[in-house]
Parts: sequence; C-alpha cells; structure tokens
Amino acid sequence: MKKIFLDKGHGGSDPGAVANGLQEKTLTHQIVEYAVDHLFENYTGFELRVSRAGDQTLTLSQRAKMANDWGADVFVSVHINAGKGTGFESYVYNGGVSSQTIALQNVLHGEILFAMRGFGAITDRGKKRANYAVLRETKMPAVLTENLFIDSNDAKYLKNEAFLKAVGEAHARGVAKFLGLPQKAKPQPQKQQKESDGKLYRVQVGAFSDRENAERLAEELKGQGYPAVIV
Ligand SMILES: [Zn+2]
Repeated sequence: MKKIFLDKGHGGSDPGAVANGLQEKTLTHQIVEYAVDHLFENYTGFELRVSRAGDQTLTLSQRAKMANDWGADVFVSVHINAGKGTGFESYVYNGGVSSQTIALQNVLHGEILFAMRGFGAITDRGKKRANYAVLRETKMPAVLTENLFIDSNDAKYLKNEAFLKAVGEAHARGVAKFLGLPQKAKPQPQKQQKESDGKLYRVQVGAFSDRENAERLAEELKGQGYPAVIV
C-alpha cells in the first residue's frame, strides 16, 4: 500500500491569502477534498491522509512531521498564489532533491496545467524551486502547487466549483501516475447501455389495441422473412 499525504495549505487562524471574497484556506480544502474523492473512486493500492480534516490550525513543521512520522511515499501541498500575477506554478525544494521528486513535479505540473487549460488560457509560470519549510522538512518526494492567484482576474476561475474539482482531480491523477496505482475496475455497464453503445436499433411496425390485429401483422412479417415479436 502506497501512502499519500495531501496538505491543505493554511487553515484555522491562518486563512492564507484573502481577496475577492475568497480565502486560500477554503480553496485548498476544497481542492484536496476533490482529489481525495477522485483517488478513492478510481484507484486502489493506497492509504491516504490529509493534514487537516476541517479548519484546524497547523504549523508548517507539524505538517511535515505528520507525513514523516507516518512514512508517507508522497507529499503534496496545495496553495493559492497572491501578488496580482496570473497562472500556475509548482515547487520542489531548492536544496538537494531526488530524481523521484523531480518526476513527481513533472507529472503533477503537466496534469494540473492541462486540466486548468480546459477552462481558459492559463499561464504556465513554470516548475520552480524554493526553500519552503514543508518541502525542506519532508523526507519523501514533495511538491507544492500554487493554483492561480486569488487577487487577480484568476479569481474568476477560483470561484468556479467545476474548476476546483478539475484541479483536485488533476492532483489525484498526478499522484496516482507517479505511484503507479492500479485503476479500479469499472462497474459493468447495464445491458441496455451495451445495446445502445453497440448501436442496436429496434423498429416498431405497428401498435394495436386488439391482439388479433397484432398477431395478423406479425404473421405477415414472418411470412416475409422478418423476425417479429409482439410486446
Ligand atoms: Zn499559501
């Protein structure tokens, strides 16, 4: 079982960036919850923990320690940017990082940017490195994502629930690809769906209130070589 640790940036007494009627801590909670749902719906072979279930206050070191003590295989910290810029960027630690960490950044960055661009022309601000505590103090491959700017025109995306869901699901796909998680078997489609998928068309040639009339037509059709069924 692979261990996934998802960190909802900020929380509790620390709202993170606040602008346009939005709070970073709420958006990071929503995005991570969408990621969690998508992982459990689509993949197996993993355990998952989040840094906070609700609106708790946590220090950066507490978040890293939670992941380290648990022995997580992957750590992703979700944030919203501020500073009136625009676009998406991702971070790994700017000290020594493993090739696995770079691989995680590559797959997450690609998945998230692709998903965002389904909603508009999102700027790619690049794969970056920084001395962030949660990246420095975590022992496993760790990436921090900055999902658009709360205090610019980007806010229109952040106010769109479908956008937050797509971004959360992209985080989930990135982590799943990085860990090579098996996909859940899809439930078998029902017979009716199979028929329509396979383009099976039925033709009705008559509707009668009198069964005798229906039987007469059925016999006539059979006589002409057509399979006839009375329903
Ligand atoms: Zn933040």
